[in-house]
Amino acid sequence: MNLPKIENEDLAGKRIFLRVDFNVPLENGTVTDTTRIEKTLPTIDLLVSKGARVIIGSHLGRPKGKVNPEFSMKPVFEKFKTMVEHSVVFSDTVVGSDAEKLSKNLKNGEILILENLRFHAEEEENEKKFVKALASLADVYVNDAFGAAHRAHASTEGIAHELPSFAGLLMRKEIETLGSLVSRPAKPFVAIIGGSKVSSKIKILKNLTDKVDHILIGGGMAYTFLKSRAIPIGNSLFEKDYEVQAYQLIDNAGIQGIDLQLPVDHVIADSFSDKAKSKSVDKMGILDGWMGMDIGSKTISNYEKVIKEAKTIFWNGPMGVFEMDKFANGTLQIAKAVAKSKAVTVVGGGDSIAAINKAKLADKITHISTGGGASLEFLEGKQLPGVKALLNGEK
Ligand code: AMP
Repeated sequence: MNLPKIENEDLAGKRIFLRVDFNVPLENGTVTDTTRIEKTLPTIDLLVSKGARVIIGSHLGRPKGKVNPEFSMKPVFEKFKTMVEHSVVFSDTVVGSDAEKLSKNLKNGEILILENLRFHAEEEENEKKFVKALASLADVYVNDAFGAAHRAHASTEGIAHELPSFAGLLMRKEIETLGSLVSRPAKPFVAIIGGSKVSSKIKILKNLTDKVDHILIGGGMAYTFLKSRAIPIGNSLFEKDYEVQAYQLIDNAGIQGIDLQLPVDHVIADSFSDKAKSKSVDKMGILDGWMGMDIGSKTISNYEKVIKEAKTIFWNGPMGVFEMDKFANGTLQIAKAVAKSKAVTVVGGGDSIAAINKAKLADKITHISTGGGASLEFLEGKQLPGVKALLNGEK
């Protein structure tokens, strides 16, 4: 995929609308994790070094189309200012005369951060007038918001049809890395898929079945797979509507010669709580009154063996209820095994990334994808609207 690059463009004096994903976690009005900001800094630094005038737009949370101070970009602006040496100003509005004036007053190399794009319902509606108003702030559009590329919103899709459009460095890195996973992965290719629900992961599992050599399943979704094979799962998470699809996926993997592994032992609890009574059980089945909360030690060791031999690894979703310390071991051990591996390692999804960060292993991973939903949809084989618009947009 040849996404249009900014490196060779003459952008001096040009106003750039840079869409980023600064949807960062906030606590009491301060940013608690700057990963998403950091990942975009190479693009921002490049634009500034070219003498561009950079207008940054992002969404933050779900204000549902209404102005809501709880979701203001102001704290993000305050944090951002401390992370760069550039001159940065804030606009309380997204579109309209004040925002336009601020964008016109920018000097070469200066940055303007706009208020939350989603304070306008028109953003998510990709409404034409709003698209034009956003586009009127700038001469060129650069999209570095891979995490929002699966949405066809005004600032991620519509605007690309109004201005000469380019992909930022992060956007290109995400697409190139995820693209190489599906087009030419070094083998063996191992997919580790966990998390709560089969329903949200079934499509990616189906799509990966053509490409991978091993699928290691963990987390709450493993229990629907076990139950589909008539293994008792007690009160564990179970999605009846996906039982048949889970059954068929195991069958298809077998037919295609793919090694699909399920947990063979568990850490179980008598309720969904960190205060619950819990124990390890050396069995695949779970008795009534108990629920599976984490993969057990045999499963960890089975998965570690596969991970050790891998040349490519994609990991999405925790192996257990890792937010509760008692049930975090499986996820942590898998994070360590992935970090230790010599394979090309790609981790996507907020929870798996949180586990990697908690274990301070982020620098041992080849690529941490900033887009949970976007990376899943990309690997499901879907064309992301934000990416498609860059390919088809004006030049
Ligand atoms: P997802 O967003 O689908 O990747 O799921 C992440 C969530 O799955 C986390 O909040 C975990 O607590 C949850 N989870 C993982 N393992 C289990 C389990 N065995 N039972 C219930 N929830 C789980």
